[in-house]
Amino acid sequence: MSNHDQLHRYLFENYAVRGELVTLSDTYRHILENHDYPAPVQALLGEMLVATSLLTATLKFDGDITVQLQGDGPLKLAVINGNNQQEMRGVARLQGDIADGSTLQQMIGNGVMVITITPAEGERYQGVVALEGETLAECLENYFRQSEQLPTRLFIRTGEADGQPAAGGMLLQVLPAQDEQNADDFDHLVQLTATIKNEELFTLPANEVLYRLYHQEEVTLYEPQPVIFRCTCSRQRCADALLTLPTDEVADMLEQDGNIDMHCDYCGNHYVFDAMDVAALYAGNTGESDQLH
Ligand SMILES: [Zn+2]
Repeated sequence: MSNHDQLHRYLFENYAVRGELVTLSDTYRHILENHDYPAPVQALLGEMLVATSLLTATLKFDGDITVQLQGDGPLKLAVINGNNQQEMRGVARLQGDIADGSTLQQMIGNGVMVITITPAEGERYQGVVALEGETLAECLENYFRQSEQLPTRLFIRTGEADGQPAAGGMLLQVLPAQDEQNADDFDHLVQLTATIKNEELFTLPANEVLYRLYHQEEVTLYEPQPVIFRCTCSRQRCADALLTLPTDEVADMLEQDGNIDMHCDYCGNHYVFDAMDVAALYAGNTGESDQLH
């Protein structure tokens, strides 16, 4: 199953429509491990992971996309971040109990979805959408409509395969500058895609999924791109963050606990700095400024 986490792009030869298909197990499991999320939160993170993978695959430049849900409900925050290399991470924060079978609205309460697109170079773009759809996919389709992008449909599934968490999804999008595109043609492809079953998506190779859905169409399937879990945290980043804190605050933390344990919510890594480490950090810092004198 190690090569199961893959993003595929495909193209219909006789329609100006492109597609994406992603299946995820290892990446999804990494995001869930070290956390004790209730089942509905696990499923929602899976949906957001699929969505973020499909969205980042539409980027035409180096950069990353963050999909964030936030509200006043028991699920305070759920966030997935991914880049065009298909490196993904994510986390959820709870502030109340979440019963089995809770809907998106019951979890988030009054809330919004925030989509942040950060190019490696250039302006950051942020879109905010009300959570008006029943499902995450509907909310995302609203986002595509509101931001006046190309007609886009998403199909997202989460569940289990071989006793492991599994998630997958598909995206259909009308190609740019195809004003001749017939809306009925797009609807036809949407209806075919909507028949995808969880089991097919989670277990079959991409070419078989496409054949089952579109056997009467000519479809070109491109080389897949691997999807992986990767957190951007590091000891250096934590050290940099420590150095921005007031020195008396750092001294207080050291005095209370003997060391400073910085914990990354995304991957569960701990970065521990004892008094010696902190002294070395400050020495390194002043060392540099000494050289400037
Ligand atoms: Zn991390």
